[in-house]
Amino acid sequence: MLLKEIKNIFHKELDHQFGKSEVAHFFYYFVEHYLGLPRFHLAIHPQWIITKEEESHFFKGLAELKNGVPVQYILGSTTFMDLRFMVNEHVLIPRPETEELVQWVIEDHKSSKKMLNVLDIGTGSGCIAIALAKYLPSVHVTALDVSKEALAVARYNAKVNKVNMECLEADVRTLEIGEDAYDIIISNPPYVLEKEKPKMQDHVKNAEPALALFVPDLQPLMYYEYIAKVAKKGLRKGGGLYLEINEQFGKEVSKLLRSHNLMNIEVRQDLHGKDRFIKSEVYQKSDLQGNL
Ligand code: GLN
Repeated sequence: MLLKEIKNIFHKELDHQFGKSEVAHFFYYFVEHYLGLPRFHLAIHPQWIITKEEESHFFKGLAELKNGVPVQYILGSTTFMDLRFMVNEHVLIPRPETEELVQWVIEDHKSSKKMLNVLDIGTGSGCIAIALAKYLPSVHVTALDVSKEALAVARYNAKVNKVNMECLEADVRTLEIGEDAYDIIISNPPYVLEKEKPKMQDHVKNAEPALALFVPDLQPLMYYEYIAKVAKKGLRKGGGLYLEINEQFGKEVSKLLRSHNLMNIEVRQDLHGKDRFIKSEVYQKSDLQGNL
C-alpha cells in the first residue's frame, strides 16, 4: 500500500474527531515510530510503499486512536525535557507545562556547589525526578508515589535515562518524613476538580489515571495541604518547595503555604499565561518552629 493512501485514510477516519492538524501529527509520529523514517519522508517520496506488516501497525494505531487511547500510550513513550520516557495507562503523560516547573528548579540551582537532596511527590512516570537528576550538577533524588505500577515505570525510566534515583512507595497523606531531610521538594499533584471533567478532552479524562488527575470538588487543595505539612518539616532552612497548581487556585495555595510558615511565595504562569506554578521557601525554620 502507498504510505500516502494510509495518510488519507487517517484523515478520513479521524479528522472529525481530532481536527486535521492533530491527525497530521499522529500520522507523523507513527511514520517515525513504525517506519523509523523522518516525518518529512512522504513529502520527498510521494510514492513510498509500505509492507503488509507495517500497514498493520498503522491500522492498529488508527483503531486505538478512534477508541480514545492517547497517542503516547499507543507508541509507549514520549519526550520530556529532551529525554525519552516510557508511559502507560498507570502514569500521567508528561506535559510541556511541567517542563517549565523543572526549568524553574534548574534555574535556581544550576550553580549550586553542594549536594542537593530532592523529593518528588507523586512522581508518576518519574519525568520530574529524572530530569532533575539529569540536569542538576549534584543531586540525590527520591521519587515517591502511592502507585506500585507507576513506580515500576519510574524505575524503568531512571534506568533507561541512566540516572540513580531512589524510589519510595508511600502515600503523602501518611508520609513520615525526616526533619530537615531535603533541599528541594517538588510535586505535580492531582488538581483537576471532578466538576471540570465535562470540559476535558476524552482521551485525557477516559484514558489517563484518575488517581493522578482528580480531586474532590469540595477538597480542591487536599494534596497541597499534605505536601505543605511534609515541606514544613522535611525542608531545610532555605529549602524550596515547587508545585504545579490548578490555574484557579494561585491565591488559595499561596494562603495555604503561608499558613504553614512557607515564605517568599512566587506564582508563575505557564506558556498559556495561566497561573500554573508556585514556589515557596522555608525561612528561619528553627525560630519559627520554636514559637509554635
Ligand atoms: N495538567 C494536567 C491536565 O492536563 C493535570 C495534571 C494534574 O492534575 N496534576 O489536565
